[in-house]
Amino acid sequence: MKKIGVLSLQGDVSEHVSSMEKAVKRRELDASVEAVSSKEKLKDVDALVIPGGESTTIGKLIHIYGLAEVIRGLVDEDKPVMGTCAGMILLASRMEDNRYALDLMNLDVERNAFGRQRESFEKDINIKGFRGKYPAVFIRAPAIRRTWGVCEPMAEVDGRGVMAKQGNLIVLSFHPELVPDTRIQELFLGLLD
Ligand code: GLN
Repeated sequence: MKKIGVLSLQGDVSEHVSSMEKAVKRRELDASVEAVSSKEKLKDVDALVIPGGESTTIGKLIHIYGLAEVIRGLVDEDKPVMGTCAGMILLASRMEDNRYALDLMNLDVERNAFGRQRESFEKDINIKGFRGKYPAVFIRAPAIRRTWGVCEPMAEVDGRGVMAKQGNLIVLSFHPELVPDTRIQELFLGLLD
């Protein structure tokens, strides 16, 4: 049985667990989904989701608990990792104002690029390879300023990048765990061998 972990330090962890469980059922996979925060549990996952929340807080906690090396190890082993919103910020290579960026993707990210909390919005967007629009929810969302090399842009809103894929790493500015549509989670699960 495959184990899918949702990094549980801060942010919307339970929503990710339940939406991923729904996608696992739809795909009829033999997989469990659980919130993980200890080094031991994190080492043991076959795929990891880094949720939205407050990137500075999550980054600080990753640092305090010594989890950066474990996350790097998962990426080195080519295990699928998905970062949403704050999770995208943390996987990026470069960004202003976040010394906790893990520098795992060829991605330059701008925090709060679409405005503050009250400028949060929902928009039907086109995603590369998806049939029909996807209902994306943006909450104090970051944007992708630039990707390079093997990092592939997957979606944009008003000329700003909101989704990218680099091998088995996927990042999104928006929140797939908050909508009934599970196509993003299923795309992610499709990366498990
Ligand atoms: N703006 C937040 C940050 O910089 C991310 C928002 C989110 O994850 N919903 O951490």
